[in-house]
Amino acid sequence: MTDFADLISGYQRFRKSGWSNQRERWAELAEGQAPRIMVIACSDSRVDPSTIFDASPGEMFVVRNVANLVPPFELGGGRHGVSAALEFAVTQLEVSEILVMGHGACGGCSAALSQNFKNAKPGEGGFISRWIDMLDDARAKVVDEYGTDQSPAAIRAMEHEAVKVSLANLRTFACIREREATGQLALHGAWFAIDGGELFVLDEAKGTFQIA
Ligand SMILES: [Zn+2]
Repeated sequence: MTDFADLISGYQRFRKSGWSNQRERWAELAEGQAPRIMVIACSDSRVDPSTIFDASPGEMFVVRNVANLVPPFELGGGRHGVSAALEFAVTQLEVSEILVMGHGACGGCSAALSQNFKNAKPGEGGFISRWIDMLDDARAKVVDEYGTDQSPAAIRAMEHEAVKVSLANLRTFACIREREATGQLALHGAWFAIDGGELFVLDEAKGTFQIA
């Protein structure tokens, strides 16, 4: 298993090869970033967008959190980390695309379905519960179709729904809605199967995910 010392060794390898081989690229990046796409993915250690999309530094503006969720536009209350990142990507970097990427074996989606953390206190699962309650309506839909069993099909349906919920919530932000309407910004959904290493892209009109 990787520990902090392994990370430092990895950094030293990167510094010798990855960084020095692309010195010019890094010098350019030091002047500023201009990614064209924002990716919203899960924090899960197995679904790093840079790895999956074989992307280099500077190419993607990434937000990762439990279950790749975008909260709806809302004021008050907490500190809106995802909303701040969205604002920055859309209004300052002016990205032309946003991708929400869900994945198989997602612990957050599975917890949304099982409601394991439902009565937990903040700091003991309560923050997870409060975060994934964004999926409560989607859960009701999944439970209607698959029952309360944690079957692989039900979990997968929950993972697919999470992508759709995030896309719907993205559209509650005026800055996103307006740019999508004028064609300046395109939204995409996808789901990555860890076991097969395959990416499925959402066809929003049909509501289904097709292999890329
Ligand atoms: Zn996940």
